[in-house]
Order: sequence, then C-alpha cells, then structure tokens
Amino acid sequence: MKIIFHEKFKEVYTTDPAAQPGRMEAIIGELQGKFEFLEPQEAKYEDLTLVHSKSHVDRIKKDPHIYEMASLSAGGAILCAKIAKEGESSFGVIRPPGHHAGYESAWGFCYFNNVAIAVKKLMNEGEIDSALIVDFDLHFGDGTANIFKRSKDVTYYHLPGGDRLSQLKSLEEFLEKERDYGILAVSAGFDRGKKDWGGTLEVEDFKQIGELLKKASKRISGGLRFAVLEGGYNHSVLGKNVSSFIEGFSD
Ligand SMILES: [Zn+2]
Repeated sequence: MKIIFHEKFKEVYTTDPAAQPGRMEAIIGELQGKFEFLEPQEAKYEDLTLVHSKSHVDRIKKDPHIYEMASLSAGGAILCAKIAKEGESSFGVIRPPGHHAGYESAWGFCYFNNVAIAVKKLMNEGEIDSALIVDFDLHFGDGTANIFKRSKDVTYYHLPGGDRLSQLKSLEEFLEKERDYGILAVSAGFDRGKKDWGGTLEVEDFKQIGELLKKASKRISGGLRFAVLEGGYNHSVLGKNVSSFIEGFSD
C-alpha cells in the first residue's frame, strides 16, 4: 500500500469545508510512519481535458492557486492509478475532491474529476480497457456519473443510504454481481461517518468497506485497485476513518 500525498495539499486554497486548515494534517497524522509516501506531480492540461472541456479547464485556470491545487490533486489520482496498475494498492490523500466535477462544470468543493481523469488516462494509454468506480461518499458523484454515462466500459456505482448495516449489505450485494474489469477505482468519502455530516458509519465500518472492496477487486480486477479521498469534514475523526478504511483495503 502506497500513500500518495504532497505537502502542498496542506495549503488552504479557498474557504470551503474541503479546503479547511488542518484537514490533511488530521489524516497524515494517522498514516505517517505506517506507510510509504509518494509525491505526485501536477496533471497536465491534456490530462484534464480527457474528461473536461477546454473552456472548463480554462475557467479554473483563471485562479492560479486553485488551478495548481486542483491539477496536483488530479495528478495524485493519476499516480494512484499507475501504482495500482503495477500491482500495488494505493490511497490518495488529495484535495480538492473531484466527484462533483463534470465535463463542463463543477460544484461541491470540486474542480477537476480526479478519479475520472485517472481512469480515463489509463484507458487512453491502453493500460486498461474497463473500470469499475465505487463511490462511498455521502453525496452522489454526479460529475463522475455524467462523464461516464455513455461509456459501456466504465461502471459508476454510488453506495445508497440507510443505516450502517444496510449500507454494508448493499455494497456487498452489488459487488457480488460484478465481474471482469481492468481496475477498481474508489471515490472514498468519509462524510457518512457517525461524527461527520451523514452520521451513520462507525470507524470500523470503513474497515469493512475497505475489506469488501479488496476482496471484490481480487475477484473482478485481479486485485488492481486504488482509492482517492473525496469528502470527510470532521477533523477529529477523519484520520481514524481513513486509517480504518486503509486497514481493510490494503493487503
Ligand atoms: Zn460528500
């Protein structure tokens, strides 16, 4: 398991909850010393336009700090995907998040769709021909769903709501039916947490989600898998929730 992180992600680039000071530190504090860390590079303009219109990318570019951070975040997802393709699982502690970013627009603290860019880049380079994207953030990843809505090679699944046990059951039942993908990509949002916005999942539930995804990946994508951070806003539990997920997701 490799952790993808850059010190720059600690920079506060705007005032939304994903950009709050201390958010990255809360996660890194739990992971440091336990895993090997790798630094990503900024995604290139051509990477961003794999899933976004030029006008959207150019619009974001008007704010140089946000553009730098959002490109680095997308670059983090790309590095996660490349490591996964080489056979080692990875987790991207990246921000801004991406799953609300669509072809032409973005909202909900997102600018570029990190996970979509990473998947599309591997496909474009002929590394994979299909992908399953599982999103367990509290919020529906409308950006990801829209980007791939006409693609028969990429399946997007958002975990439905409900109490904790029904959520875990839904995920298990969904995964049981899936097979034969080039890679499993995960939009890992922690805002369902008991002490976070959604108020349902316990710390250990994230470990179970990680385990379910790991086991499914071994069956459907030869174990090739990566996950990137989306939401999760209560800094007092975010690190523990991320760490718990990684415990289940890693070998
Ligand atoms: Zn969310």
